[in-house]
Amino acid sequence: MLGCFLSAASAWLRLRLLVSVDVVLRLLGFLMAATLAARGGDGAGTLVSVCATVGMVADLAREVGGPQVAVHALMGPGVDPHLYRATASDLVRLQRADLILYSGLHLEGRMQETFERLRRSGRRVAAVTDGLARDRLINAGGEGQKDPHVWFDVRLWADCADAVAEALAGVRPASAEAFRSRASELKRRWDGLDRWVRGRVEEIPPTRRILVTSHDAFGYFGRAYGMQVVALQGISTVTEAGLADMAQLTDFIRSKGVPAVFLESSVSPAGLQRIAKDAGVRRGGELFSDALGTPGQKHGPFDLGTYEGMIRRNVDRIVEGLK
Ligand SMILES: [Zn+2]
Repeated sequence: MLGCFLSAASAWLRLRLLVSVDVVLRLLGFLMAATLAARGGDGAGTLVSVCATVGMVADLAREVGGPQVAVHALMGPGVDPHLYRATASDLVRLQRADLILYSGLHLEGRMQETFERLRRSGRRVAAVTDGLARDRLINAGGEGQKDPHVWFDVRLWADCADAVAEALAGVRPASAEAFRSRASELKRRWDGLDRWVRGRVEEIPPTRRILVTSHDAFGYFGRAYGMQVVALQGISTVTEAGLADMAQLTDFIRSKGVPAVFLESSVSPAGLQRIAKDAGVRRGGELFSDALGTPGQKHGPFDLGTYEGMIRRNVDRIVEGLK
């Protein structure tokens, strides 16, 4: 009788033990799932670290990545990407990043080899202009070379948001929908910016819609918003302008009655300053060409360290200089 009771009691205890282990395991599973959901759903938890080259690309990554990314830009205000080489500390940052984003089309000409090496070593590396249809790009000289200054056509740059969303989704698949929906929202917002630029440029009398700058960064701006664009140096700043180029540009400015020329924040001003003096024209305000301004500095309500702030200040300066 006693033996029977003891055996029943031990069976009951074993059952209780099994039930409680099961409950604890279930509870742990539930808690882990809840924690993962709170962190973004796929278990990675931490922010996606993005290393971008120029400020314009970093801005795209921040817009599309939102609170799920931490973005670092290698090239700050006033830095010329055509001439930039990665430093030793850049290489450490690039190695550690979850995702490396660059503009592409040989804008960062001297970093090309670094990107290839990083790709071969298994890093995720993507050019934001890669997804754009080739026929939307401006030809620049021979061998299929395209003009890399895509950001000056606001709609074209907005379309690069899709490539950024896909690159981020590759790193953090569980947040793919969030990245894609932020990219769509950004394109809607920058559609408004595009309309604003168009309206501002229309304030310049048609015969004065000529933009003279240090280097040929504004080809997309000219095509999108109906301005003739003339530059002292070519698409890249690697080759310097000669005396003949300077004399030719001086003659052009005189013959067209161009009221102002524009220096750039990331290019040496010497050549164009001399031309302005020789041709007897004003120097319009300095334009941002291949770099954003200093974060925290304002143009009205807009931050010059953002793409939108940079575009708005450029356009206001162009319109004030030529109107
Ligand atoms: Zn450039």
